[in-house]
Amino acid sequence: MTIVVATTDRESVQSDVLPDGWEMVIGLEVHAELATQTKMFSPAQNEFGGEPNTNTHPVCLGLPGTLPVVNKKAVELSIRIGLALDCDVQRCVWARKNYFYPDMPKDYQISQYDKPLNVDGSLQLPSGQVIGIERAHMEEDTGKSTHIGDSGRIHDAGYSLVDYNRAGVPLLEIVSRPDIRSANEAKEYVEELRSILVAVGGSDGKMEEGSMRVDANVSVRPLGSDKLRTRCEIKNVNSLRSLVRAIDYEAKRHIALYDNGEEPTQETRHWDEAAGKTRSGRSKSDAEDYRYFADPDLVPIDPSDEWIEEIRSSLPKLPRQLRQGLLNLGANSEAAALITNRGLAPLVEETVAKGADAKQVLTHAENNLAIEGAAELDATAFADLVKMQTGGELSATQAKTVLADMVTTGKTPAELAKQHGFEAMDSSALEATVDEIIAANPDEWQKFCEGDPKVRGKLQGFFTGQVMKATRGQANGKLVNQLLQQKSG
Ligand code: MN
Repeated sequence: MTIVVATTDRESVQSDVLPDGWEMVIGLEVHAELATQTKMFSPAQNEFGGEPNTNTHPVCLGLPGTLPVVNKKAVELSIRIGLALDCDVQRCVWARKNYFYPDMPKDYQISQYDKPLNVDGSLQLPSGQVIGIERAHMEEDTGKSTHIGDSGRIHDAGYSLVDYNRAGVPLLEIVSRPDIRSANEAKEYVEELRSILVAVGGSDGKMEEGSMRVDANVSVRPLGSDKLRTRCEIKNVNSLRSLVRAIDYEAKRHIALYDNGEEPTQETRHWDEAAGKTRSGRSKSDAEDYRYFADPDLVPIDPSDEWIEEIRSSLPKLPRQLRQGLLNLGANSEAAALITNRGLAPLVEETVAKGADAKQVLTHAENNLAIEGAAELDATAFADLVKMQTGGELSATQAKTVLADMVTTGKTPAELAKQHGFEAMDSSALEATVDEIIAANPDEWQKFCEGDPKVRGKLQGFFTGQVMKATRGQANGKLVNQLLQQKSG
């Protein structure tokens, strides 16, 4: 569905991959599968990866005499996402979008057309740039065709297989305004949108499982122009890397055509990852071709103000707010983005609130918690671990090991430290080791004792490293440092 509207106010942006004097104009349509138990209009399971045609129901198969029943949870999740994108939530009407593909046995898709659920929102990128959201409407997913033949394309297939497990999965189609000005900005938009979807529990956002699918409408225009030129819609983009490559390719293709006195034709194009090119698909259908009309089997949905406000008040902090919270704790902006994208920001905040050292908590979240299930870690246990570390009971290496086990086993840090035999090193044993290392490196030690702060800092790293090596990471770095300072002065 592409309804072109004026872009929101945005200054012209010279592209850094296009010749001087050209800018890109990009709008994205993102289909997000909603995280419901069952499908949009039937009680079949909404589940990825089952045996083909096991999650089906007469409604998903479009059998005669069946009637759709709206999944309330899908509507609630769609409103959650709409509110998180600052949309107005309005009375909406289901529409039939007619087209004929074997993966859609009714021969129409139930969607929304002129009365979508969410309209007129926006999304702020980490850079601060605001991208308009035109609409976010509900619809059902299609099934999946597999064409059996050398190319995997329908034209030279011997036969095709169809799997209806995906048919009827609830979707929210989120349509941006053509406010995006580069492939990298498109990538940032998708990343930020994905974080929002995951944060509000609307979708799992897994691009690799098709939970989030991106189509890009791309055109170019002379810098400073405010007219929209002919766009092409690129489909089949299933990774962020492909998205960037496909947009850059397509924009350059348009400029080559204009330079040649030609014009691009409005059409759907497919991204061929191996060839690094977009290829012409069907010529883009206009809205008339779909013969939209209000679905007579479904009544409009008119969410009450009370329901909308109830959903609004249950929204968690959004990624933008979470990142700001992490910046306030001392994270740099890359770490704040990384930790937020991993879904760990609420855990970090809670752990620090329980008295754990913010710097250590952030370091663990950034470096040691890229583990499935880390977001469900108990904040009290995490805080206990960090306190053991700052108190000298565990070295950094030991703390990392214990932390990983906490995620997988759910045991307390004390239990796990004991299990691993991570007893704190006896301080006299540690001092003896430090003395040995000093004795073995007399030149470095002399420089350490006489050096300026810069030299001392470097050599401190050297001595600590040697002690760690000798103790196989058992020593507490902070105590080693204290001993070095005492002994040198
Ligand atoms: Mn759609």
